[in-house]
Amino acid sequence: MQRRNFIKAGGLLAASQLMNMSALSALKALENNLHATQRMPALFIGHGSPMNAITDNTWHRSWQELGKQLPRPQAILSISAHWITKGTKVATNAHPETIHDFGGFPKALFDQQYPAPGSPEMAALTKELVTASHIQGDDTWGLDHGTWSVLLPMYPAADIPVFQLSLDYYQPPSYHYEIGKQLNKLRDKGVLIIGSGNLVHNLREIQWDGSNNVYDWAREFDTRFTDWIKAGDHKSIMDYQKILGKTAQMAHPTYDHLLPLFYIIGQQQHREEIKFFNEQFDMGSVSMKSFIVN
Ligand code: ZN
Repeated sequence: MQRRNFIKAGGLLAASQLMNMSALSALKALENNLHATQRMPALFIGHGSPMNAITDNTWHRSWQELGKQLPRPQAILSISAHWITKGTKVATNAHPETIHDFGGFPKALFDQQYPAPGSPEMAALTKELVTASHIQGDDTWGLDHGTWSVLLPMYPAADIPVFQLSLDYYQPPSYHYEIGKQLNKLRDKGVLIIGSGNLVHNLREIQWDGSNNVYDWAREFDTRFTDWIKAGDHKSIMDYQKILGKTAQMAHPTYDHLLPLFYIIGQQQHREEIKFFNEQFDMGSVSMKSFIVN
């Protein structure tokens, strides 16, 4: 990615300008130029347990790595499985609070804060861009753990503005997908869009004894969705409940953790690729599979 971007950015500076600078400072100038204008990728992140925010494991480390490798965003739009509303809302709060929306975890997790600023400006732009639905501003919601558990390892300095978009649980997949498509222009403004959920998420079937024997229905759902995503078969993704029936019900008894995925699938433009990572299960019934659209 870096090499391709370097070449692309090379066209932005005239050859004469380049000749007047040392090789090193020219490279620096290119990088700065790049960061100011670069179109951002979009991410679907399987967030799993809130403890991943503070536990040194594969997923935590992959989020740290992402923060180091991705171009630095101007702002982050998080579409988290944990903000469910009637109607779609965008958070307008300039100082969103850290919400500890879970129970039964150690104090160390409740002690975590993610004091990133909000982005009322980007929230306003989001309302303008989306015509598929009437998006309402909301100044009551902060950053839920679907957002901060991932961002804490990714951008520990919490110095990039973050704003959230809610999920209208009562709408079909196509509704979320269409809004996702209209959010695409935000990426040209340096906004990193993150959908935070899980490709398979059944908390009732979790194996609490520490084993991770993946259920057949979990594996099947994960594989079928992955194949559809790879093939760009968005129609099957929209119809997944009909096609996968009982398997879909088992994979998502409630489908809040799948909803963010539809927004990220909607990001894929002509010639953009999707790359998968963190392709493991946790506790037998939670898929941590994640992907980047770029
Ligand atoms: Zn969750």
